[in-house]
Amino acid sequence: MSRSDRICRLITALAGILALAVTIGVPLGYFTVSYHYMHGTLDAEAETGAAVVNGIINSNPLMWQFEHVRLSEMLDRRPHDRVPEERSIADLTGTVIAESLDPLRWPVLSGTCGVYDAGTMVGTMKISRSLAPLLWDTASVAAGSLLVGLLFFSVLCTLPLRAVKSAYNYLQESEKRYRSLYESMKEGMALHRITYDEYGIPVSFSVVDVNPSCCRLLGFTREEMLGKDGDELYSGTVAGYFPEILRAASTGEAFSFDFVQHATSQRLHVAVFFPEPGFFAFLLEDVTQRKADEEQIRRLAYYDSLTGLPNRILLMDRLEQILAKARREKTRFVLLFLDLDRFKVINDTMGHAHGDQLLIQVANRLRHVLRSSDTLARIGGDEFVVLATLDGEEMNVAHLAQHLIDNITTVYPVSSREVYASTSIGIAVFPDDGSDCNSLLKCADMAMYAAKEAGGKGYHFYSPEMNRKAHARMELETNIRHALEQEEFFLEFQPIVNAGDGRFIGVEALVRWQDPERGRILPDLFIAAAEESGLIVPLGEWVLRTTCRKMKEWCEAGLPPCLVSVNVSGRQFSQPGFTDAVCSIVRETGIDPRFLALELTETSLMADGEAAVKALGKLKELDISIVVDDFGAGYSSLGYLHKFPIDRIKIDRSFIRDLGNQSNGRAIVEAIIALASRLNLHVVAEGVETSDQLDFLKEQGCHEVQGYYFHRPLSEETLMALLEEIKENPVPLFASPEGETIAISLAT
Ligand code: C2E
Ligand code: CA
Ligand code: CA
Repeated sequence: MSRSDRICRLITALAGILALAVTIGVPLGYFTVSYHYMHGTLDAEAETGAAVVNGIINSNPLMWQFEHVRLSEMLDRRPHDRVPEERSIADLTGTVIAESLDPLRWPVLSGTCGVYDAGTMVGTMKISRSLAPLLWDTASVAAGSLLVGLLFFSVLCTLPLRAVKSAYNYLQESEKRYRSLYESMKEGMALHRITYDEYGIPVSFSVVDVNPSCCRLLGFTREEMLGKDGDELYSGTVAGYFPEILRAASTGEAFSFDFVQHATSQRLHVAVFFPEPGFFAFLLEDVTQRKADEEQIRRLAYYDSLTGLPNRILLMDRLEQILAKARREKTRFVLLFLDLDRFKVINDTMGHAHGDQLLIQVANRLRHVLRSSDTLARIGGDEFVVLATLDGEEMNVAHLAQHLIDNITTVYPVSSREVYASTSIGIAVFPDDGSDCNSLLKCADMAMYAAKEAGGKGYHFYSPEMNRKAHARMELETNIRHALEQEEFFLEFQPIVNAGDGRFIGVEALVRWQDPERGRILPDLFIAAAEESGLIVPLGEWVLRTTCRKMKEWCEAGLPPCLVSVNVSGRQFSQPGFTDAVCSIVRETGIDPRFLALELTETSLMADGEAAVKALGKLKELDISIVVDDFGAGYSSLGYLHKFPIDRIKIDRSFIRDLGNQSNGRAIVEAIIALASRLNLHVVAEGVETSDQLDFLKEQGCHEVQGYYFHRPLSEETLMALLEEIKENPVPLFASPEGETIAISLAT
């Protein structure tokens, strides 16, 4: 029987009892009260009658029994309307002396009173009436009560029952609603009963109810779970939280935890709440994806996406930790700064995607070589940092650095080509070289530069000397800036001649710096610093503008025109406004652009091939010649050259120097010249110092040569004198694009 049925029955019974009480109680009460009243009335009247008889007795005590006429008359005199009554006076023997009798219907109620003679009872006075009218009245009252009782019953039954029913329906509906919510909710719900031992101490818990999501999350069916012990159902860690759950239950504090359910390998977040004493419920949420996302965000923030290694932020964090520990424990650790040798060239010539492939392979190698306790991070393009603790002597660090170099130095397969890579390492030691993260990193960086300067593929410990060098570098940059402002730069011009007959073809403009204190400084000492600081851009523009001005002056002085080459650094060439700057300088100085050539290295052309093609196209529109400088020193093949509108290639000095040696310099020069002639390119050889070199180059069909064998770089005056000489003895030199012949004579 349901609860609501029980309530209904109870209400019906109560209503029945009440209705019954009304139906029976009212007529019963009416009858009882009326009966007593009637009885009292009869007694009182009998008493009154008896008092009259007493009076008669007092006046004539011996005769009263014979006064029946008088007595009968007295009995006939009734105080009220004639209610049928029987009235009689009898002596003690029961002999009726007088009576007045109306016919009475059964049943009859009588009232009696004694008749006294001087205190002695001598007879009785009795008055009787029929109870029938009272019974009839009681019956009609009972009928009325029955009606009222029935009304009562129906009202009492129906009104509360309807209220209970509707409350019950409402409850049921709301329960249905909550049940469907409970069944369809994404979160799992599990209700548990706490199990107590004989002393009332909680020992474990069992499952009382679960929703479908809970089954899915835990990997069991509902039947498998109901009644099961918590230990069995949940993976190990959950039972461990039981004491804390009990504590939370007693304090009413919120409590939650995470665990991994082994059956489904899902990571679940559990919020515990307490619906009633002796029970607790779990609200389970699958946080596997959320945790994975958080992990991913953490990875993105702290790890390098290419190699998966810690990035600079994480490195600095670890460095802080290791630094604090080393300070506390008074131990030492080292920071190794690795930078791949010539990576920029590989990246520029083979493209970034291939550069990335190489970096991934290098990172993997480093990972395998290092101990798991060491930290390996990638902090920039080809820069890696290793953080290692020093458990033994310092020797270990040198050993570790050499070990890293040996393992990195190899040939890597990069998209069906083989790329050779090596690394330079700078080492800084805590606490010797620095006491904070940044200074240690800076020291290791400087030491790495020293390793690079020593030719790469080696390691270098930091020394304060390096710091001095770094300061010197910064000072140099300041000085270059100052020199630009003070116009301390000037130009020299090195002639380029025809390889066959030594006739003058043109010059290469070379920048020099006249420092008021240090005297004449050659470009090898400052070009690199200028490139690094970006000062090469204004310096390069100054060189180009000055060269063009000189060309114009020579022309106006009536000297014969000659081809003038100007070096352009990669940084300068990659400036977005470079070609516009060239155009405006040409226009502004009014020179004939056919006599201007720009020397670019292959790496600056390859850095952004498409942009280079566009820029060169614009320069070619102006009739400016393009020379590829230091050819062969980069990683590129001749194959790419057909993409660019090039006029000349200049074989790198190092190959010419190597011609006399047993190395394969000869084969390389031979191959370059053969290929260039097939591509219809002019070949220039620079750094020619001997007649043997000249002979070999002539033999191979090299078109033009430049070098100390013919001329050192000349001052402007010397060059002008040379051009004057040529003007005096003109000989045909080279055909301009328009076919006009420019006459210049041999100067040597
Ligand atoms: P580079 O473009 O390869 O210039 C040729 C260098 O070889 C010059 O050195 C020149 O003096 C030197 N040289 C010429 N003939 C011989 C020889 O027979 N034997 C030897 N051993 N060397 C010879 P320099 O003037 O010291 O210039 C060095 C480098 O500085 C240049 O190499 C060039 O890369 C750069 N440079 C010079 N001037 C400029 C400039 O105005 N702008 C830019 N961006 N770079 C410049
Ligand atoms: Ca050059
Ligand atoms: Ca060169």
